[in-house]
Amino acid sequence: MLNIYNIEPTNYVNGNGCRYVLWVQGCNLDCIGCWNKLTWSFEKNILKSINEIFEEIKKLGSKIEGVTFTGGEPFLQADELSQLAKLIKKNTTLDIQIFSGFYKDELIKDEQKKLLNYTDILVAGRYDNTKKNNNQMVYHFNSNVDNWELNNSDVEIDIDIDGNINITGYPTNSLINEIKGKNDARV
Ligand code: SF4
Repeated sequence: MLNIYNIEPTNYVNGNGCRYVLWVQGCNLDCIGCWNKLTWSFEKNILKSINEIFEEIKKLGSKIEGVTFTGGEPFLQADELSQLAKLIKKNTTLDIQIFSGFYKDELIKDEQKKLLNYTDILVAGRYDNTKKNNNQMVYHFNSNVDNWELNNSDVEIDIDIDGNINITGYPTNSLINEIKGKNDARV
């Protein structure tokens, strides 16, 4: 089972094109300026099986161009995510992008290397909002997948049918506070 913070079936600011984006629950990297602290807890949040998630992805068909794992810290659930990535790679043409707070050289466990093998684009390194490109490096492992440039000003704001607001991408603190001040937004 994967412990998940949130899923956006169609999202535009976490990789190339329209993507299924999965935020895992749990992170202990304590990055400078992390605005996703609700994802830090390792308490169970949304639990879904690999097959359940894969079925959701399959149903989206040509609506999406890829799948993104972010968090939280995806490589702390590398075993489960590598099983999901394997299914995606075997059965679809979707590319896989991962946002991690680990530096690439820190990904040395077997299950982390396995997940890395299924990854087309990796954004890696401790997030630091005081540094250029937020201190993160982008690695393109697959020449068949379009390059992706980190644009740390992209923001997507989704409002669901119940009026819940979901902010993804790289919102500034003032934007978050502005919206949170007026609404009950999930960031
Ligand atoms: S890896 Fe992501 S969620 Fe974890 S502390 Fe860093 S920015 Fe926050």
